[in-house]
Amino acid sequence: MTRRKLVAGNWKMHGSLAQLAELDGIAAAARANRRVDVAICPPFTLIGAAAMRGDLAIGAQDCHQNAKGAHTGCVSAEMLKEAGASLAIVGHSERRTDQRESNEDVCAKARAAIGAGLIAIVCVGETEAERDAGRAVAVVEAQLQGSIPAGAKAAELVVAYEPVWAIGTGRTPTTGDVAAMHAAIRAKLGALLGAEADAVRILYGGSVKPSNAAELMTVANVDGALVGGASLTAADFVPIIEAAA
Ligand code: PEP
Repeated sequence: MTRRKLVAGNWKMHGSLAQLAELDGIAAAARANRRVDVAICPPFTLIGAAAMRGDLAIGAQDCHQNAKGAHTGCVSAEMLKEAGASLAIVGHSERRTDQRESNEDVCAKARAAIGAGLIAIVCVGETEAERDAGRAVAVVEAQLQGSIPAGAKAAELVVAYEPVWAIGTGRTPTTGDVAAMHAAIRAKLGALLGAEADAVRILYGGSVKPSNAAELMTVANVDGALVGGASLTAADFVPIIEAAA
């Protein structure tokens, strides 16, 4: 099964209107590498301006599970769609930790994103202690079990494997460990979604940079990357897009 690669940037709580100038170079690289899908997920405040700037796919870093209501400070998937987003990251490990989001929360958010017409990028990944204890695969399987909406279709769902200990640390798993985990994720998706699982894209995330992107993209079942720090500038992000193409 051939899957189109997706390279998505997560700006986290970084960025400003001035920094949207970086999108011009990123969009140009996306146009020049049409075999790969490219997206940037800036903070909520920049989504509208980013979407109006050009033809680059823009995503959010979270969404609320409800369409509307008394939820001060929250943003619904419908609102994101109207602002110009076409994707939403849900269940990033920083939110699972900082906002104590459970698998049930993540599943509800993914369902809401899909219901609003967004592609949900569902993040999973083990901590270093869990890996050291030999529990990495079991932890990720349990996250998938609880976080993937039943009946989700491959066109509306992406899974991002992001080992917590690799995010923002400059450390990455060996390509063998990435291959083993992505194979385990594919198998678990098969148990959850049946034949649809073959077409679901599984991204690797955690300290992806220009110097390691090409090697990571050759690993079986790595269908692209979710990139944090190296997505903030076109100078860093464009070589990663090119490595995926
Ligand atoms: C992330 O936070 O999704 C991420 C992968 O960050 P970084 O690339 O900076 O490790």
